[in-house]
Amino acid sequence: MIQIKGLRKSYGSLTAVDSLDLTIEQGEIFALLGPNGAGKTTTVEILEGYRSRDEGEVSVLGFDPANRGDVANAWRDRIGIVLQDSADGADLTVEESISHFSKYYSKRRDLDQLINAVGLEEKRKSRVHNLSGGQRRRLDVALGLVGTPELLFLDEPTTGFDPEARRAFWDLIRTLKEDGTTILLTTHYLDEAEALADRVGVIAQGKLIEVATPATLGGREEALATVSWRDQSGLLREESALDPTSILRRLLNDFQGEVPALTVKRPTLEEIYLRMIGEAK
Ligand code: ATP
Repeated sequence: MIQIKGLRKSYGSLTAVDSLDLTIEQGEIFALLGPNGAGKTTTVEILEGYRSRDEGEVSVLGFDPANRGDVANAWRDRIGIVLQDSADGADLTVEESISHFSKYYSKRRDLDQLINAVGLEEKRKSRVHNLSGGQRRRLDVALGLVGTPELLFLDEPTTGFDPEARRAFWDLIRTLKEDGTTILLTTHYLDEAEALADRVGVIAQGKLIEVATPATLGGREEALATVSWRDQSGLLREESALDPTSILRRLLNDFQGEVPALTVKRPTLEEIYLRMIGEAK
């Protein structure tokens, strides 16, 4: 669905994207992670055909986004985009807005189902400029989905969502994946990447430093496990480079019953990510 080889983009003396290679397969959810200014939006907007590149080869759905020629409209028809900056809704209501944008696409999604899916039923007659920030973002997501895209770009889609809305959004994305939609997501929420992504790529200062599954990024599955528990002296912890089961066996034996305040913890995706970003500086 997406092939990138040797992509470079500079703004004056600043290299925003540096020799980036990446392939995204059909039906995959890929999350691009990286700190502010790492080059995520630049990369994604080049793929969407909204920014020019300096060097490299890019193919999206088999076409170069910078040179689509006769197929430009047919290409756009297969792509859904949720940009980082929310669109100005002017004076339209939620349903007018969705209905208006649906006219650009040949495979329109059902209006009622879409409004339900993004949780805007109660706001369908509200004017866009009266929506809250999170509700506006939900509308952006609806506009990205309105044409039943084969390939969906989501640039920080859940910024401003409350926790319940974020979970509902994750469910919606999983449904899209079941239908075969390929999704490129950028997010600053590591739990979101972990919940949704088949693979994640970490980008820092324009360079892709690793691509892996959320479970294996940065050697995560081999990282130290920390076992902690409580005894009369207070809270204790022990780290195990190997499987922590031997520590647990010992504790079960020592306590002969419930081990107070027992936890076994491996580093979260966020902890691994922060370490990688720190090392990349
Ligand atoms: P964020 O997480 O904050 O959205 P990002 O990873 O999407 O960041 P980009 O928006 O791609 O980062 O920006 C990469 C770098 O390029 C930044 O240093 C940014 O200031 C710079 N940049 C982006 N767009 C332009 C532009 N139009 N002109 C000049 N510099 C730009």
